Amino acid sequence: MHDPLHFDAATLHAARPGRVTLVGAGPGDPELLTVKAARLIGGAKVVLHDALVGRGVLELIPRTAHRIDVGKRSGHHKLSQDGIIELMIRLARSGHELLRLKGGDPYVFGRGGEEAQALAEAGIPFEVVPGVSAAQGAGACAGIPLTHRDHATEVVCVTGHLRDGPNGTRTLDLDWPRLARPQQTVVVYMGVAALPLICERLIAHGLSADTPAALVERATLPEQRCVAGTLETLPALALVQAVKPPALLVVGTVVSLQPVLARAMALAA
Ligand code: SAH
Repeated sequence: MHDPLHFDAATLHAARPGRVTLVGAGPGDPELLTVKAARLIGGAKVVLHDALVGRGVLELIPRTAHRIDVGKRSGHHKLSQDGIIELMIRLARSGHELLRLKGGDPYVFGRGGEEAQALAEAGIPFEVVPGVSAAQGAGACAGIPLTHRDHATEVVCVTGHLRDGPNGTRTLDLDWPRLARPQQTVVVYMGVAALPLICERLIAHGLSADTPAALVERATLPEQRCVAGTLETLPALALVQAVKPPALLVVGTVVSLQPVLARAMALAA
């Protein structure tokens, strides 16, 4: 395989920038790729992908393609977001057609919006191919309808990513009164580390401690797990069962349907 970050000088000059395609890789199962994403991946020449892109999806990249893992899991960054953007712009300016492969949907919590802005500013032509986001994948495959006439007329998706606060603290600045409203489903991306804080805040802002809540780990993959409980019990359950990212937190009475639907779906498997 080539050195992923090495392009020789001759290839770094081109009259016209190459085109960048931001492609949603879906939540993991390669069969959940769009037909368009699968076609573009199969014909890709240079691919920049994240850590979250499923193994089965990566296997569809041609062996001859130049594949760059810019994967960044929280904690140990490989390339900074600025570094990824710089690399994309440099490669595109040198005439390479780039496929930027991102987990789920490129415009849902993956900083794809920032990448598109940077490309627009740099005058690089780009296209965005949507993907199945983790919320849809987790809902369908774990047995949690995200809306349901008897339970939720709204779905609210938020990030649970903790940010550095003052004096070494970690904070999560969300609109808690908004999230604690009834008749809705709250989906939290990147919420594993902040799970105890999220459950505690939702209860403090008026949701019953008995509100059903679940974590769906590695949704749509063969090793998918769903750990379901309530706002009160889920943090301890997650600890005991050692739930790890990537996992999605779903809060709301729709989660009460999960055991029945999952059992019935298992019969069809
Ligand atoms: N753009 C992506 C989200 C990127 S943020 C999308 O649309 O899905 C990364 C977070 O997405 C993870 O921390 C996790 O909360 C969630 N996630 C991504 N893939 C997942 C999967 N297969 N199962 C559960 N959660 C997943």
